[in-house]
Amino acid sequence: MLQTLRQHLRHGYGRHIWSRSLTTAAAASITQRSSTLAEVPQSSRLSWMLLPTKKSTKRGDTCSVATTTDMLTKAGYIHQSSAGIYTLMPLAQRAMDKIERIIDDEMQSVGGQKLAMPTLLTPDNWIKTGRWQTTGDELFTLHDRKQSAMLLGPTHEEEVTAIVKTMVRSFREYPLRLYQTTRKFRDEARPRAGLLRGREFVMKDMYSFDVTRDQAIETFGALERAYRRCFDRIGVPYAVADADSGNIGGSLSKEFHFVHGSGEDTVLACQSCGYAANEERARGSCSAHGAAYLATVVDAASGSRVAQRLVVVPAGHEPSALKIRQAWPLEPGHRLELAPANVQETQRAAADMLEPLVDACALGLPESPSVSASVAGDWHVAQAGDSCTRCASGVLTAQRAIEVGHIFYLGDKYSRSMDLTVLHQGARHYVQRGCFGIGISRVLQAAAECCSSSDAGLRWPLAIAPFLAAIVPLAGTSHVPQVYKKLAQVVVGGKCVFENNVAVDDREYLSPGFRLHDAQLLGFPLTLVLGRAFAAASEVEVQLRLPPTLSLPRAAAGIELTCIDDEYRAHVHLDRLAEFLGCLLADACPQTLH
Ligand code: ATP
Ligand code: MG
Repeated sequence: MLQTLRQHLRHGYGRHIWSRSLTTAAAASITQRSSTLAEVPQSSRLSWMLLPTKKSTKRGDTCSVATTTDMLTKAGYIHQSSAGIYTLMPLAQRAMDKIERIIDDEMQSVGGQKLAMPTLLTPDNWIKTGRWQTTGDELFTLHDRKQSAMLLGPTHEEEVTAIVKTMVRSFREYPLRLYQTTRKFRDEARPRAGLLRGREFVMKDMYSFDVTRDQAIETFGALERAYRRCFDRIGVPYAVADADSGNIGGSLSKEFHFVHGSGEDTVLACQSCGYAANEERARGSCSAHGAAYLATVVDAASGSRVAQRLVVVPAGHEPSALKIRQAWPLEPGHRLELAPANVQETQRAAADMLEPLVDACALGLPESPSVSASVAGDWHVAQAGDSCTRCASGVLTAQRAIEVGHIFYLGDKYSRSMDLTVLHQGARHYVQRGCFGIGISRVLQAAAECCSSSDAGLRWPLAIAPFLAAIVPLAGTSHVPQVYKKLAQVVVGGKCVFENNVAVDDREYLSPGFRLHDAQLLGFPLTLVLGRAFAAASEVEVQLRLPPTLSLPRAAAGIELTCIDDEYRAHVHLDRLAEFLGCLLADACPQTLH
């Protein structure tokens, strides 16, 4: 046994097991588990937790960690299994559970019923909707023992449609709003940044069913408001942008974004009227001279040209493949190629292709193929500096952003292809649909990304931090129960905010320096250090690690906060601890804690 453990240690594994099993200090801590800390649930005691943080021995190590993925890995929140596939360790799972509770709450407030659909699906329904044929490499497919094809669900429109088609008999059973929180599988071309773009990830997906279009639009509005409440409660600033419906389909969709420089999306927004849209969908006008592009449809198998059209965009702007494809949908097996057209090509195109140019005019393109300043139509990718087309007085600005949620009004998509109908007012109609997704695992890391920095280390929004506070007793755990009880008295907005929300670092086999360093690595919003000042004068050192977006008061309950190296501290007598924390939390973040 000893030899095995030594081998583990040599290979860098199991330092936790080593220190817990083999040192006398560890043995002492096991004895203490059952005595002084009886009131603290075992699940909140760091001695019971699988934490790899001890590996980082140098103080200030957090500063050398560049990305949030590194910080989360180093602090033991996530563990990479393979590219784009991660284990959520207990602390990350706690944060995820909190996000999920907020979302459950808001989904159920608009009549959402939670169910759990299978992950392992047969392609039958996917063939009916055509997505088996068109989704391509992103789909994870496999075969069962009878060699029948199967897939791992990347989304569940088909499955939920089949359920409702089988079970619902009358228009009286609508509206229906069904949702689940499950793992989704997408073989992303470029999995990146930990949980931000995974190949297996956790999503909340809701599917709505209404009898009429008006009701479905109403549902879309109700869900947009519920999503805003979710993100208000999560506590990270967000933007809501008009969006493309992509492979999900439909005609109206909005994305929810955390605005952050590391995001893969660009949101263009007008400060004058509040218009915001994903760059791929945004509309911006520009009076610059035009540039011509040839849009060519090519047969993917043979490489031969199927059709060609002329597209004119303002100079300095790229043509938008998305906008062109929307107006000119591609047949399966075809692809669109866009290339700048010089004057000769433009004229030749005009001579060769009278038909397509007529079509092009119908799309709002200029009648003359010559490059012109009077470009009608919107075929370009909008960019910062373009005029806002909604209010005409504003100018668009661009910000990078991380998409965390996406909502769609689908109309009769999926109902039509899977023949889901309802008899209403004497006529049979296709059921009207919507779908609404939040990437919960992406929200987790994106929230950390927005709140943390390589200088300050890991930070969490208060509502989703795995624990709101950690108590770090530096000289024995005997005083912990008193402090724990004080925290139980703190009420913010009618809620006992520390209930089941306080971790105790009872790893007495680790040095005080290690444990203080770990508190910094883990990034819980509050750390209550019980050190010499506590033994001498019942004074708790309160360390605050809050998101930069929270504006902190200079003092709470008359007790001053001092700032040292991005961290705020206060020294508070035990008798005033509850009052101090109550005031501080009520001032700093009244809405996110309840
Ligand atoms: P993206 O454009 O980032 O690839 P998407 O538009 O394909 O995302 P949707 O189908 O709209 O994603 O899925 C709903 C939500 O699921 C997204 O808003 C996002 O939060 C989350 N999500 C999508 N793909 C991933 C992924 N690969 N890893 C983690 N979360 C994801
Ligand atoms: Mg999306």
